[in-house]
Amino acid sequence: MSTTSPPAFSWDEWYAAVGGRSIRIEDVREYLDRIYNDQYPRFGGEVAAERRDFASPDEAATHLKAKAIECGADISGICRIEPTDVYRGRTVAHTYAIAVGQRMRWREFQVVPSRESAIECLRVYFTLGEAVIRLADYIRSLGHQCQVEHPIGDSDLLHIPIGLKAGFGELGRHGSIIHPTLGPLFRMGSVATSIPLATDKPIDAGIAKFCDNCRACRKYCPADAIPDHRSPEAGADHLGYDRYVVDTGRCFPYFAKHSYCSICLPVCAYNHKEWARDFEGFKTRLFPTVLMPEPPPAVDLSEGQPVHWYPKLKR
Ligand code: SF4
Ligand code: SF4
Repeated sequence: MSTTSPPAFSWDEWYAAVGGRSIRIEDVREYLDRIYNDQYPRFGGEVAAERRDFASPDEAATHLKAKAIECGADISGICRIEPTDVYRGRTVAHTYAIAVGQRMRWREFQVVPSRESAIECLRVYFTLGEAVIRLADYIRSLGHQCQVEHPIGDSDLLHIPIGLKAGFGELGRHGSIIHPTLGPLFRMGSVATSIPLATDKPIDAGIAKFCDNCRACRKYCPADAIPDHRSPEAGADHLGYDRYVVDTGRCFPYFAKHSYCSICLPVCAYNHKEWARDFEGFKTRLFPTVLMPEPPPAVDLSEGQPVHWYPKLKR
């Protein structure tokens, strides 16, 4: 167990600090109900008595990554779980994480923040949640234990370091992973297991370096939460660069009052790659309309963290 990893994000305390939940969108409410009432009870299940072992870690990794895609993920990768990948106070009794990601539809981020962008965030939490539950069911049907790490945000594993180590992309100035072709508009989850698996590697596609010369997310963040400079005290990312640290105490009030904000994702300069094929005939623009009403005052939890640090990654 790590004593240096951050505690799990205390959603209830943060919402209490901004006067409670104020986003009232019926479709969002329905997705949340389905996630908590229908998906959470399906995290566990019977492990088949007969166990199928794989010929090698390579074969197992290839098979399970392909299965993850079949279960509904758009991308999949594998990494070894280190203590700093687990939220402080939580435990994960497995060695590997099979990380999965699913893209969000660009056409729902044409105006941000908006009802449409909020619903799309929740839709993908739900559909990617189905993908990790299906993958976990499959692993148990092979006679192996596993643990579901749902994308919605109260998992035991930190999705960002897991996604970086699984080769999903590089850490952007806005604190989200940028995939070389999907850009930053995707969500992540994982399934933890101890089946011996070949692991993927972090990538260096020049994305993190690009952020040093691009400030689009910084400029459009209405809460002034995205930093000008990297913070050496926050530790290095997987490429050895000091991390950019988003100020959660500024971001969260805006996020909580304005449809989960999300402005920093569709304005990101990396939104111009493969996902554009996702237009599917819908009328879309290359750059979203960004609504930036006055930000609410910043809040910090008295006992909590003013900023949400991610741990220094081992290389
Ligand atoms: S979600 Fe909104 S407030 Fe938070 S960092 Fe992104 S742009 Fe800024
Ligand atoms: S908008 Fe620019 S600076 Fe911000 S994360 Fe994207 S590429 Fe990096």
